[in-house]
Amino acid sequence: MSEKNSLSNENTFASLNLAQPLMRAIADAGYTTPTPVQAQAIPLVLAGGDLLAGAQTGTGKTAGFTLPILHRLSEKPVVNPRPGHPRCLILTPTRELAAQVEESVKTYGKYLPLKSMVMFGGVNINPQIKALRGQVDILVATPGRLLDHVGQKTLSLSEVEILVLDEADRMLDMGFIRDIKKILALLPRQRQNLLFSATFSDEIKALADGLLHNPGYVEVARRNSTVELIAQSVHLVPQKLKSYLLAHLIKHNDWKQVLVFTRTKHGANRLAEKLNADGIPAAAIHGNKSQPARTKALAQFKDGTLPVLVATDIAARGLDIDQLPHVVNFELPNVPEDYVHRIGRTGRAGSSGAAISLVDSEEFQHLKNIERLIKRDIPKVAIDSFVPPTHLPAEAPRPPRPQHGQRRHSHTTASAPRPANAGNRNQPPRDGQGQKPRHPQPARTGQQPRNAQPGKPRQPQKAPADQQHLSEAARHQAQPQPALFSPRPAVRRGK
Ligand code: AMP
Repeated sequence: MSEKNSLSNENTFASLNLAQPLMRAIADAGYTTPTPVQAQAIPLVLAGGDLLAGAQTGTGKTAGFTLPILHRLSEKPVVNPRPGHPRCLILTPTRELAAQVEESVKTYGKYLPLKSMVMFGGVNINPQIKALRGQVDILVATPGRLLDHVGQKTLSLSEVEILVLDEADRMLDMGFIRDIKKILALLPRQRQNLLFSATFSDEIKALADGLLHNPGYVEVARRNSTVELIAQSVHLVPQKLKSYLLAHLIKHNDWKQVLVFTRTKHGANRLAEKLNADGIPAAAIHGNKSQPARTKALAQFKDGTLPVLVATDIAARGLDIDQLPHVVNFELPNVPEDYVHRIGRTGRAGSSGAAISLVDSEEFQHLKNIERLIKRDIPKVAIDSFVPPTHLPAEAPRPPRPQHGQRRHSHTTASAPRPANAGNRNQPPRDGQGQKPRHPQPARTGQQPRNAQPGKPRQPQKAPADQQHLSEAARHQAQPQPALFSPRPAVRRGK
C-alpha cells in the first residue's frame, strides 16, 4: 500500500469526519490519505448537495462517493426498510464496473449494517429477484437490467435518496441516454444527485444541467497530465505482423500480465486464438461474451493465472486491476481520449507501468491526434530481436474504422459498423463482396522488413544493449529507433 499512499495531499481522512466504522474500513484497506478527488468530493457529498465531478477510474473516485454515501445513509437509518426499495442507486455503464463498485461498497461498508446489491444483464435474473425480496440499501446497476426489474415490479425506485451516475460520459457513448431518462422519471424528485464523468462533452453538460441543482464542482487533473509514471512507447509495424510481434514481446520479455486492447470484438477473439495457438494463454472479453465467461477471464487475469487479457474499450472500461504492468494497444483507438483511458489501466494509484502501442502506417493520423492530446511525442522504438515470419497466412480484410474521432453509439457493440453486405456477424467481410481490403500494404513492407531480400528470411541482428528488452527500453523512454517498416508517411515528431 505504500505506493498508493504517494497520492497523498495535506488532507487526512480524520479531517473528513467520517463515521468510525468507515474509518476502520479505510484503515483495513491500507489507505492513509485521501486522494485529491476524495478530499474534495467527500465534504461536498456529506453536506448533502449535488455534485458534478470530473474524475476517471484510477483516481480513487469510487471511494470518493461511496464513503460519504455510506456515512449519510447510516446516519439516518430506516426503521423498517422495505424489501426491493433501495435508498441509493448507483448506475454504471458496464457490468464489470458495476461489480467493482459494489465490491467497494462492501469493502468500505463492512462495519455498517447497510446492505448492497449489484445487478446487471447477461446473467440469470432469478437470484437478483430473490435478493430484492430482502433489504437493499445501495443498489449498483447497469441501466438495462434495472429497467427489466422495474418492468417486472421486482424493484421500486420510489425511495431513492441518492443517485450516482458513474462514468456518465461512457454511458452516453454506449447509447444509454434513453434508459437513463426513463430511470430518472422513476425517482423521487427530492434527492441528492452525483454525476461522475471523465470528459465534459456538450451532451454531458446538458445531462448535468437537467439533473443537478446548484452542484458542487470537483475536477481532478486528467490522467494524461498526471500519469507520468507510465512509460509509453510505439512500435511501427504492419497490421499483419502485429500478432507475431506481440507474441514475441510477451515471450521475449516474459510478461506475466498484459492487458491488450483491440478495436473490435472479432479482432479480440482472433488475437486471443492466435496467442493461444502460440502457447500464450489468453482470453478475450467483450460484450458478446457471456457474463460468466467475462467474470472467469477477469478473475484469472487478476489472480495471475491468465497472463493475457484481450479486451475492447467498452469491456475494459472501469477495470481496476492493481499495478497492471503492461498495457498494449494492438490497434490505436479512434478517439484520442480512449488512449488515455486505456493506458490508465497501468500506472494506477501510484505504481509504474508500461503502455506499448503497435502502430500500422494507416494509424499515423490517430497517433498524431493522441500525441497532440497528451502534449508529448511517444518514443518510436524498434525491436531488433523480432524476426518476422517469412510465410504469413492470408488474412481477411479488417472492417473499416469509423470516421476520425467518431465514437460508437451502441451499447451492444464496440466494433466498427458492419458493412451492409456482411453475412454472419461473427465472420469478417469476405473479399469479393464489395468490401475493399482496408490495408493495401506499403511498398517493401509485407512480411519483409525494409532491408530484407525478397524470399529470404531476415537474419536476426544483435540488438543494441538498450533495445534487447523492450520493457526496459520503454521504461527508460528509449530514444526513437528505426521502425520495423519504412515509416512512410513519416511520423512528424514536431507539433
Ligand atoms: P477508483 O478510481 O475508484 O477505481 O480507485 C482506484 C484504486 O485506488 C483502487 O484500487 C482503490 O483501492 C485505490 N484507492 C482508492 N482510494 C485510495 C486512497 N485513499 N489511498 C490509496 N489507494 C486508494
